[in-house]
Amino acid sequence: MLIVMHHSATDKDIAKVKSVITSMGLKPVAIPGAERTAIGVIGNQGWVEDAPLKGLKGILEIIHVTKAYKLVGRDFHPSDTVVRLGGNVKAGGKSPLLLIAGPCAVESREQLIKTALFLKELGVPVLRGGAYKPRTSPHSFQGLREEGIDLLAEVKREAGILVVTEVMSPEHVVAVAEKVDILQVGARNMQNFDLLKEVGKTRRPVILKRGLSATVEEWLSSAEYILLEGNPDVILCERGIRTFETATRNTADLSVIPLVKAASHLPIIFDPSHATGKRSLVSPMALAAVVTGAHGVMVEVHPDPEHALSDGPQSLHFREFEELQRQIMALEGFMKNLKEQG
Ligand code: PEP
Ligand code: MN
Repeated sequence: MLIVMHHSATDKDIAKVKSVITSMGLKPVAIPGAERTAIGVIGNQGWVEDAPLKGLKGILEIIHVTKAYKLVGRDFHPSDTVVRLGGNVKAGGKSPLLLIAGPCAVESREQLIKTALFLKELGVPVLRGGAYKPRTSPHSFQGLREEGIDLLAEVKREAGILVVTEVMSPEHVVAVAEKVDILQVGARNMQNFDLLKEVGKTRRPVILKRGLSATVEEWLSSAEYILLEGNPDVILCERGIRTFETATRNTADLSVIPLVKAASHLPIIFDPSHATGKRSLVSPMALAAVVTGAHGVMVEVHPDPEHALSDGPQSLHFREFEELQRQIMALEGFMKNLKEQG
């Protein structure tokens, strides 16, 4: 439920509405606006009987919101969320396009530091690398796990770069959050609700990947779990969805970028590596995502993709990534000019 206050409503009127909501066993969320204040109501699991609110001074309109998500939607939070990642690196709103790059998996100290120093030199602010790897086959490389997390922490210090890594189980969240800057919830865990709640209790930004077969409503509802626990810093990541098509690893659903930007205030980035599974398609699709308005791009890059322990065929060589970054920066400038021209 959303209570829109009249523009002439006083602080006292607003406080009274909030206290009635609280007395109904629900939670008020103030939604400041340029013209008027609105108050969102959360905590209900179905229709809310609005009789106790009717007739209170200062109320312009009571809107019953029936969406599966509230905190994530623009009804409750009209302006863009800007997520602070560390230092002056931000994602969302009018922040510069966020570039995240690195290997699929942390494989060794040498591999990680080489990649981190290369990215640092290019000015890429965030290094990605999986330590806990969700692999389809139990016979595939499962990641270095705790050792991988320690390597990320070491390389983060040494190279002075922010790091993001995936957490797969709720028990690991607290320990991993102490060592890295950003947590990732992978596609396969998008509906691991205990994991979502656990990352929601941390103060770390979370990259929430879209599930392999998740609808936009399911994806945004998963983000809602994180926000409801008190963590507002969620970045959505489109990484392709499962369709009948097998020519690409997944089907890149770029239409969700403008669609989600209209429905939600959260930043949204695109992962062309998992979306396509093919190195030759990564750069064109990364550029396409910039055109659709993505707030950032996350790309797999490896010092020696031919010998990578996971996702080598979709990982860019350093020189390819360097070229992509140049193209992204040029395109970002072009898009900015285009917007300024109205
Ligand atoms: C990843 O980014 O390392 C990953 C496993 O991707 P996804 O969860 O999108 O498959
Ligand atoms: Mn991968």
